[in-house]
Amino acid sequence: MPGTIADQTTRHGLKTGLVVMLPALLLTLTLVVMQLIFVHLGTQRVTSELEKEAGLLAHSLESGVTRTVQDVQGRLRSLQDLLLHNPVLLKQPVELQQRMQMLVAMTPQLRELAVVGQTQGSLGVVASSAVAQPGDALEPLACMQQTPVAGMLRFAAPQSGRFMGTAQGPAGVYKLPVCMLFSSQEETQVWLIAVMNPDALRELFRPIIDSLPAQVQLYRHDGKLMAELPSFADTAGPASDELLQQVRQREWGLYISSADDSRVTAYRATSMFPLLLVLSIDRQQALAAWYRTVTTMWLIATLVLVLILLAAAWIAWMRYRQARMTDELHLLSAAISTTANAVLITDHRGVIRWVNRAFSSLTGYAAEQVLGRTPSILNSGEHSALFFKRLWDTILAGEVWWGEVINRSRDGHQLMVEQTITPIRDERGALTHFVAVHEDITARKAAEQRSLYLANHDHLTGLPNRRELLARLGQWMGPEGPEYLALLFIDLDNFKAINETLGHGRGDEVLIGMVERLTPLIPVGGCLSRLGGDEFALVMVEDVGREQASTLARRITDLLSEPFELAGQTFTMTASIGVTLAARGKGDPQTLLRQADLALYAAKHDGRSTYRIFNEEIDFNVTRRVNLEQGLRQALKHPERAFSMHYQPVFDAQSLKPIAAELLLRWKAESGEWVSPAEFIPVAEESGMILELGRWQLGQVIAQLADWEVDHATFSLSINISAVQLARDDIASVLLGLLQQHEIPARMITVEVTETAIINLSEQFESNLAALAAAGVKLSIDDFGTGYASLGNLRNLRADYLKIDRSFVVGIGQSHGDEEIILAMLALARSLNMKVVAEGVDKEHQLRFLQQAGCDHIQGYLLAKPMPEVDFMRHLQHHRQVGSGQA
Ligand code: C2E
Ligand code: CA
Ligand code: CA
Repeated sequence: MPGTIADQTTRHGLKTGLVVMLPALLLTLTLVVMQLIFVHLGTQRVTSELEKEAGLLAHSLESGVTRTVQDVQGRLRSLQDLLLHNPVLLKQPVELQQRMQMLVAMTPQLRELAVVGQTQGSLGVVASSAVAQPGDALEPLACMQQTPVAGMLRFAAPQSGRFMGTAQGPAGVYKLPVCMLFSSQEETQVWLIAVMNPDALRELFRPIIDSLPAQVQLYRHDGKLMAELPSFADTAGPASDELLQQVRQREWGLYISSADDSRVTAYRATSMFPLLLVLSIDRQQALAAWYRTVTTMWLIATLVLVLILLAAAWIAWMRYRQARMTDELHLLSAAISTTANAVLITDHRGVIRWVNRAFSSLTGYAAEQVLGRTPSILNSGEHSALFFKRLWDTILAGEVWWGEVINRSRDGHQLMVEQTITPIRDERGALTHFVAVHEDITARKAAEQRSLYLANHDHLTGLPNRRELLARLGQWMGPEGPEYLALLFIDLDNFKAINETLGHGRGDEVLIGMVERLTPLIPVGGCLSRLGGDEFALVMVEDVGREQASTLARRITDLLSEPFELAGQTFTMTASIGVTLAARGKGDPQTLLRQADLALYAAKHDGRSTYRIFNEEIDFNVTRRVNLEQGLRQALKHPERAFSMHYQPVFDAQSLKPIAAELLLRWKAESGEWVSPAEFIPVAEESGMILELGRWQLGQVIAQLADWEVDHATFSLSINISAVQLARDDIASVLLGLLQQHEIPARMITVEVTETAIINLSEQFESNLAALAAAGVKLSIDDFGTGYASLGNLRNLRADYLKIDRSFVVGIGQSHGDEEIILAMLALARSLNMKVVAEGVDKEHQLRFLQQAGCDHIQGYLLAKPMPEVDFMRHLQHHRQVGSGQA
């Protein structure tokens, strides 16, 4: 099953494809995992570098802050030294202010230097480098409230306002006061205050902020925010407890926030001052470059993977296809090598490259015996050089050549092959190979010839049949045929009877015997053919003329009518022959056959054992008969429309009173023509239609007869019954049954049978006559004198009447011979105790002669013509009136 084979190849192909896809998928997976690991490690590394960097930066910032604060500390020390050396300055605020202003001008980190005194909790300005006036009251600063240690720096919380004494300032402007205790005596303490500019601190941070997504915060040791850059509203505020906790454990390091790991935070608590510096870097932003790299890497990796997968898929697809193709090729080549047809492949020069097994078994050459050679080794010499030239021209033109070739096998016998040569081209269209497939048709050809023979010959006699005859006639009647030819149709006359009585086996023997007799008569160049059944045809093509054809026909009828022995019995067979002649170029086989057939028909009709040569009259007659037969067949479908009865009165010869009538059938054909029964009755008899017609007629007539006002004791109706009806139908019981049915005495009926009919009596015929006679039906021998009934025949029949045929009545007064015959007939009838009827009496002198000769009944136009029933009844009535009138 091809479906299954295709499925198998597909499955195999798929397997082959998957073998490629699997490693590709594995490779992809590995690459993805590796990439993931790489990214993970890379991220770790980059993060740790970031952390290291944060630590370093925090360290360097711490140094900057420390230096700045040291500067401030330095100024405060300078002021301290100044006041220690010149305590008077405390009383000279203007002087002091000037000195301090000089110090401030030297230090950009400082905004202001002030000296304040605190007495019993209230704070007053001693001198200030800025706006505060000596004696101004101040709110105590946080840095003053702790237990004072002289010379030590204390940081106050950031305060709004630019200077001491200016509590209010523009938004975002604040100051960082730093306190140092100068002297403490009883109730009074003097503090040196440096107001630090937070912007100076912030400027320290700026280079880092500008280059990193970082934020720097400076806290007091207790977590109070002192400066930050940039300022974020949400992060401004004290340092978290968590951070302070960590700082207490370790002065510097990385702060790991449990709440927020989006930032890398490094802190340093300065050892010199109670300050805490925190640098936090936005992890995501800092690693942005790295993440970009990762993304790019992923993109590249994905691209590579997709490429790998695509390539693998493509390879898999190719392999799948290749596998399928290989499988198919394998199948194909297996199929070709095992195919029943011989296959031979040559290259473009005709050198054999490959042959299959069938080739070897067909030609007898093994593959190695032919490879490298050319197909000419198979040449049988049966074909011309032109044949091969045409073959080569065709295939070199790239077309398929097909034809029947006679090859020679290795052992020398001829091989009939049907050969197809297909040229094969490469992709560029150049011829590369020729594939020749040979189908051995030797056996087929023989079978064809045999069946051709069978189709054209008769199997019983071996003679050409009708087909073959027609074919040969076709040739003979062509332009290259003989100038004249004659066709003789031979038909055995009574073969059917032999077949029916002795059986078909014997019938066949007779036919073979007849052919044996005919064979020596076959003319030179002509032929004998069996057309079927007992019909033969003989064709003459030399020495053809009416004379020669007639001679041959006579010889055949003579020869065939010689008696022959069969199954210990002697038989005689006769044949009828129809002859027709044709000149070259005139007519066609079918017409010729038809003409011979018509001539044969005529010969049969004219009494058999004879021949007729076709002419126009025969054509006309036969055609007429055929037409009549067809017409009758139609008419019998509705006999009451086509047929009618006429009655011709029959008279007593002496009294001339109607004493009987003869029933005569009339047929009005469809064409309107009245056809004479003398013409159509024989046709009805030959075709057998008379049986149906006769029965119908009897049914009609007997029914009518019951109504007739006639003397049942004396009147008689004569009915013509055909010999065919008597021989083949149970006509007696039909007639007797009808008579009984209509209560008509059998005596009233006379059956007329022709003399020719009683010559060959059959069993049925005799039993019909016997039954009729026994019932009292009378018998009349019609047309007496035209047949050759013997005296014995007549005596056996015990007929009641003899009917002298009209041909003799016509001769009365003209032919002495006819008159003598009539007298002899009358004498014969009397001796056999029969009455005599003369028919066809249409002349007065004929009547007189017959009356004188003692004829009993007279029938003829002279006294009455045949007439329809109504007229006939009137005719009878008329006579009765005349008779009674006379009486
Ligand atoms: P047939 O039986 O000899 O009938 C006599 C024929 O002679 C009739 O011709 C009749 O019309 C014709 N005839 C009678 N008197 C004269 C006469 O004075 N002069 C001439 N010239 N002819 C005369 P019809 O009716 O044409 O019948 C011809 C033949 O057809 C009959 O010959 C008979 O053999 C056959 N036939 C007619 N009717 C029937 C029938 O019903 N059954 C059968 N089986 N045959 C019939
Ligand atoms: Ca008759
Ligand atoms: Ca007659």
